Amino acid sequence: MALIEPFEAVDHSKPLSLYIHVPFCTTKCGYCAFYSLPCKAWEGAVLDDYSEKLLALVKEAASLWDRPFKTIYIGGGNPGLLGPGRLASIIEAASVHGEAEEVSFEINPETLDPSFEILMYGLASRVSVGVQSFNPDHLKTLGRNASRQDALHALDLLSTFRARHGIRFNADLMTNIPRQTLEDAMDDVRTLSSWDPDHISLYSLTMEEGTALAATEEPLGEDEEADHLYSLWSLLDSLGYRRYEVSAFARPGRECVHNQVYWSLGQYLGLGPTAESSLGWKTVTSARQAGSLESWLSSPGAFTGTVLARGEVAEELLLTGLRTTRGLDKEAFHERTGTSFDDLLQKAFGELDPKLYDDGRQFFSLTQDGTMVSDRVILSLALALDQLTADFPL
Ligand code: SF4
Repeated sequence: MALIEPFEAVDHSKPLSLYIHVPFCTTKCGYCAFYSLPCKAWEGAVLDDYSEKLLALVKEAASLWDRPFKTIYIGGGNPGLLGPGRLASIIEAASVHGEAEEVSFEINPETLDPSFEILMYGLASRVSVGVQSFNPDHLKTLGRNASRQDALHALDLLSTFRARHGIRFNADLMTNIPRQTLEDAMDDVRTLSSWDPDHISLYSLTMEEGTALAATEEPLGEDEEADHLYSLWSLLDSLGYRRYEVSAFARPGRECVHNQVYWSLGQYLGLGPTAESSLGWKTVTSARQAGSLESWLSSPGAFTGTVLARGEVAEELLLTGLRTTRGLDKEAFHERTGTSFDDLLQKAFGELDPKLYDDGRQFFSLTQDGTMVSDRVILSLALALDQLTADFPL
């Protein structure tokens, strides 16, 4: 597939977002299961080669999508390693038809410096920084490259950028770190809140198979993890951060627009090694770029794509929509899958404890208790979906 082919799957009556994957990091964190390469794997000319090819691809995408992207998100990896000049060129190329509603880039604390301020002059509107913890022991357990001091400097700088340019910023924190007590995690939240970030992402560490951390450490038990999360969610709420997704908290009105595109199975085009795309509305094509930097560099315009069966679209809508506190849009579910969500719920009824969900007229969402066992709820609904589609093939 060349870039023109995924565009054939785009529904031009709907918005399109752009995701760009930058797979470069300085070192590999102990828990990381993303596709990212430590600097020894990409030093020298590789960064220039990647940047040139990416820029050409972004220009091609912008010529095929002849209006502004809804949102632009540059994630990684650590996109900050491209430097502000290259990031500016990419954002400019993606914005030739006008400004996106939101333009975000991720950066690690040790990479952020005053030179990134050039991006705040109308190019980027949101920055996301991976703090994870302020505690030196926990940073060491995670194998992070950044120190506590790096995080403090980065947050000072982001506050300055916000005061001068009106940008928004997010900071990521992590909980469930081996030997991290609840009090340690609460200290991290309180410390972070003193910079008043617009958005906080609080991730519960998962031990991904094959990572350095999973080989040496044990995760917390499920009950203890749930107790910690309840306490941390309540602390964030008391500080004015409303949870709107499993791990995402924002000051009201400052939610991340780009992530909401994912959670409603909106359209997005993903460029860069391992980047995924979801294109189309009623007929959804899931496309993917090459799975390694080497193969991507040899063929940057190559995509592999699959048209999802309507049952697969229904499962994706369950998996994404039920992550959010707003919930799954029942009308859109019906429109996109041909299946009535109320019929589905009826089928799963005996399996689901009513304490786990709220069934409104338009949205079906999980309660806080339901969110803690969301895998179980989604499995019950997916099994009901299988039965329903066996009765009435999608
Ligand atoms: S900085 Fe992020 S992408 Fe890079 S190794 Fe660490 S967790 Fe993975």
